[in-house]
Amino acid sequence: MIEKRYDTLISQLYEKIPINDRNNNKNFFFQQIACLTANKNETSGAFLNSTSQSFYNKFSDKEFSTLLCLRYNLDLDFIPTNLNCTCKRKNKITGQIQPKVIDKKGFHICNACNSDGCPTMIHDAIQNVAALAFKSGGCHVVNQPVMEDLDGKRLVPDHMITGNGTHDGRSIMIDYRHTDSGQTDPFDSTSHLIKDIDGKNAQYKAVSNRNGHLFVAFVVDRFGTVIQSVQDLMFQMFKRNARNNCNEISDAEANITASRKLRFWLRRIACAMAKTKAMCIINRTDKLIRIQHEKKHGKGSKNSSSYFDNKMIEEEEMEKQVNDGTFDECAYVKDDDDLCA
Ligand SMILES: [Zn+2]
Repeated sequence: MIEKRYDTLISQLYEKIPINDRNNNKNFFFQQIACLTANKNETSGAFLNSTSQSFYNKFSDKEFSTLLCLRYNLDLDFIPTNLNCTCKRKNKITGQIQPKVIDKKGFHICNACNSDGCPTMIHDAIQNVAALAFKSGGCHVVNQPVMEDLDGKRLVPDHMITGNGTHDGRSIMIDYRHTDSGQTDPFDSTSHLIKDIDGKNAQYKAVSNRNGHLFVAFVVDRFGTVIQSVQDLMFQMFKRNARNNCNEISDAEANITASRKLRFWLRRIACAMAKTKAMCIINRTDKLIRIQHEKKHGKGSKNSSSYFDNKMIEEEEMEKQVNDGTFDECAYVKDDDDLCA
C-alpha cells in the first residue's frame, strides 16, 4: 500500500522533470530520480531516528541540516556557486584538462572527486559497519585478501567472509559499492552490476569459478539502503546464527531474531554512510573555499601562488592514494567529465 503511494508520487515528480533534462542531461536526470527512488526505502530516513544516532554517531547541527537537504534533494547553500574543485579532469572532446565546478548537492564530492578521497571514505564507512554485521552473524571477516583469477591476475576484494555466510559453507568475496553517481539506472539497482560485466565483475567471476567462492557486490544506494539480494543473504545468515546459538528455537522465533538483527544493521550502515557523507561535503567545501580565497587574496606574508602549488602537490598525493585503492565507483567514473550538473 505504502509502496504504491510512493510509486505514484515518484511518477508524478518524474513527469515534472523537463523532457529536455531527461534526454540531454542523463546524469543529472539520474541523480534526481535516484533521490526520489531512494527516498521510498525503509532506511532512507534512518539518520533521523534517535536510537540509531545514539548507537552510531551523533550529528552536528550542520551535518544534520546537510543530511536533511540531501534527503529532500535541496541545494546546499553553504556551497558557493562556481566553486572550483582541485581535481583534474580531461575534457573528452578537447582532451584539455579542465577545472571541475562543485555542484550544490554534493554529488561530485561524494561520488566522483578523485582529489580528497571522499568516495573512498564513504566506501570504507559502509565496509567497516558491514564487517561488524557479518561478525555478529557468526562469520569471520578477512580484510582485502589477495586472490588470483584464471590467468593468475591479482584481484583484491574488500572482504572475504568465511564461516556462516552461506548455507553450504562457501566463502564469500565482497566488493562494496555505493551508487548515486548518476551513472547507473536508479530504478534498477542491479544495473550497477550489469554495467561492470566485462571489468571487475568478470574478474570476480573468474576467481569464483577457480576457487568456488561466492561473489557478492554489496550495493548501497544514496541513502545507505542495501540492495535486496544482500539483505536476503544477511537475513539467512542471522537466521542460521540464531539457530546455531539455540537448539530449541522455533522457525518463527528464528525469523523474528533475524529480522530484528537485519533491521539493526541496515540502520547502522545507513547512519554510518550519512555521517560520513555530511562530514565529507562540509570539510571538502571548507577546504576548497579556503584554497579559492588564498588563491585570490594571498595568505598574509606567504606567497600565495607557492602556497597554492603546495596544495596541489598535497592533492596529487591523495589522488594517488585513491587511485591505488580498490574503490570501484571512483575508478570508473573519474574519466567522465560531465558527471555532475
Ligand atoms: Zn573534484
